[in-house]
Amino acid sequence: MPKKRTSRGRTKGGKGSSGTVHCSQCGAMVPRDKAKKITGRITLVEPTLAKELRAQGAYISPATDVKFYCVSCAVHRGIVKVRSEVERRVNTRLR
Ligand SMILES: [Zn+2]
Repeated sequence: MPKKRTSRGRTKGGKGSSGTVHCSQCGAMVPRDKAKKITGRITLVEPTLAKELRAQGAYISPATDVKFYCVSCAVHRGIVKVRSEVERRVNTRLR
């Protein structure tokens, strides 16, 4: 059977099943390996204040923000794009 994508749109591999996550935007239930995981950094302290504090030797731990998006929301937000038939087979990193 011809395959549209090498990974079939998932990162599951030979694993039977993976858990589900909720899409951060629309709340849809998506398989964890199919959802697009986006990690971002959030600053809890204002940048100017953080700079001053860091100069005085304070350590400000970076807070990470993990978001999962379903495929349609990822396309809508521009995280992934609709690719041509040939390009689809190429594995690329998100962002
Ligand atoms: Zn969604």
